[in-house]
Amino acid sequence: MSRRPSEQDWAAAVAAVRTGLRPGARVLLVCHVNPDGDALGSMLGFAQGLRQLGVESLQCTFPGPLTVPAPLHMPAMDLLVPESEADPAPDLLVTFDAASEGRLGSLVDRLETAAASVVLDHHASNTGFGKVSLVDPFAAATSVVAAELLRRLGVVLDRGIAECLYIALVTDTGSFKFDLTTPEVHELAARLVATGIGVGEVSRRIFDTRPFGAIRLFGEVLGRAELDPAAAGGRGLVIAVATLDDLAKHDQPPYVLEALIDSVRCTAEADVALLLKQVAPAEWAVSMRSKGGADVSLIAVALGGGGHRLAAGFTGHGTAADVIAAVRECLAEQD
Ligand code: AMP
Ligand code: MN
Ligand code: MN
Repeated sequence: MSRRPSEQDWAAAVAAVRTGLRPGARVLLVCHVNPDGDALGSMLGFAQGLRQLGVESLQCTFPGPLTVPAPLHMPAMDLLVPESEADPAPDLLVTFDAASEGRLGSLVDRLETAAASVVLDHHASNTGFGKVSLVDPFAAATSVVAAELLRRLGVVLDRGIAECLYIALVTDTGSFKFDLTTPEVHELAARLVATGIGVGEVSRRIFDTRPFGAIRLFGEVLGRAELDPAAAGGRGLVIAVATLDDLAKHDQPPYVLEALIDSVRCTAEADVALLLKQVAPAEWAVSMRSKGGADVSLIAVALGGGGHRLAAGFTGHGTAADVIAAVRECLAEQD
């Protein structure tokens, strides 16, 4: 998916969503497994827009346990239902921030059973699944695509919608720091902030609040980080590994590790940052970041995951050394 949505794509998406606005229509919104701020925020922001347009039967869900980490609590979470309760054959399905069908877990069958479906996303690695696909690889977040679709549907931004879309925007742009932070991103942010959302409170909650145990945990994991200046074609690779033992020792839930890659990637001597987060004895959630020399989405896709050129991830199997070796091999192919 290297092109932006055309006017026909937008028209097709508007038409598909309108089928969900018919009286009595049942609408199901789904975001990717282990949802981040963009997945949840774009979905719950869009849900409130559909509410405004009169949709009464509306469910939001994602695969896996229905738990949302405290930093990502946001308006409209009452619309969330466990995947087991999701409508088996909705009139309209909309997916958020999922680059491939696999990211929808067991909910993937709704792409077949739903009368109409729209895929909203911004991953360059998007596989093009879904009947109607609205994927903008130049959008900083899926919420940018969602906001534009809501605008075309005639939705007026209110504070609840805005808070969700803003959380999505700040998480995926790293607080407006990453490359895709265009003038349009700031214009959207301005419209969202104008509704009266608490910008400082949102930022503090999402980025600047951490249990003391997590501070200690970060210190320990960062203390073991390793730098290989010769890797990544001489541009440098920094590697950190967080184990289940680390989490247990500091009595922390896995989600606190989501923020850790942002410390690892600061390493001046490394173009590529690699963080392994153990989720089971031989299973790792892997985060990769690049400063531009390497395309980490190619590595992620090669290893069964996905993402963007500068930020990508996958699920690794085996020992930490196995996973690191696999990444190194893929990285070497880019030299
Ligand atoms: P993270 O490192 O978890 O913040 O993820 C960075 C980017 O990689 C996001 O755009 C994710 O959607 C994507 N990503 C992370 N893990 C996976 C995975 N297991 N499969 C597909 N994409 C992933
Ligand atoms: Mn995401
Ligand atoms: Mn995203």
